[in-house]
Amino acid sequence: MDLQLTGKVAVITGGTVGIGLAVARGLAAEGAHLALCARDERRLRAVVHDLKTEFPVRVIGVAADVSALDGPAKLAGAVTAEFGGADILINNAGTGSDETILTAPDERWQAYWDLHVMAAVRLARAIAPGMKARGGGVILHNASICATQPLGYEPIYNVTKAALVMFSKCLANELIGDNIRVNAVNPGLVMTPDWQKTAKALTAGTDRSWEDYLQGIADDNAPIGRFADPAEIADLFVFLCSPRAGYVVGSTYYVDGGWLRTTT
Ligand code: NDP
Repeated sequence: MDLQLTGKVAVITGGTVGIGLAVARGLAAEGAHLALCARDERRLRAVVHDLKTEFPVRVIGVAADVSALDGPAKLAGAVTAEFGGADILINNAGTGSDETILTAPDERWQAYWDLHVMAAVRLARAIAPGMKARGGGVILHNASICATQPLGYEPIYNVTKAALVMFSKCLANELIGDNIRVNAVNPGLVMTPDWQKTAKALTAGTDRSWEDYLQGIADDNAPIGRFADPAEIADLFVFLCSPRAGYVVGSTYYVDGGWLRTTT
């Protein structure tokens, strides 16, 4: 299937590892140019170098914190300077939390709100007008199954990801008239270095291997009995970016190995 993505310009927040990097690789393999954003400059430089070596596309890295007030503007400015604008925006940067509602201070709620919701709001304001001028585009939000089916230890993550899904729906309604399609993806368990780091820390000095610990999580939660490889999530993102998904507007797709226990 020709996904008709050759020469498109894609902006990916959190594109240096995990799902974001897999999406970057998937889009580059289809011939899209990339603008990756993350905070760790050293890792960003290395990833940009590797992608440029592997794929015949233009790749820039923008070191910025998308949760900061000026982060989205910095990213959008760099994209305009290099490419003149963007056709695709993937709001992917995000991270889990661990707290109780009764003990978490306001600052913690605000930090996750800024990372999961305001970054997407500010990037829409900064990038969508240019997309419209180019004739249209695609904006995708990487939320989580936790937006619908909460995990007990991370209420702030659950709440802010649920807000991101609703934001995605509202933005879809507002932008489809400009030929900009907005959708969201809710992954389940995805094997990233972060999961492995946590598993290693929790099993250090115990009889249990970190691999066995992660298998236990998969067995307990995902009927498929395993974590997803990031590329399995990225493939859906890449398809949703394509004009071949031209009638997909304002939807949220679960990629969770059967973990969601309801029909919605
Ligand atoms: P990782 O922790 O592996 O990667 C996160 C990426 O985001 C990194 O590139 C990181 O780079 C970047 N990032 C984090 N914070 C910021 C920030 N403030 N500004 C700019 N960049 C930032 O994440 P995953 O691949 O696991 O997850 C990606 C998304 O998918 C997240 O939104 C997550 O909530 C969601 N998700 C993940 C699941 C999983 O099982 N892994 C399941 C469901 C949803 P740097 O640190 O250099 O800034």
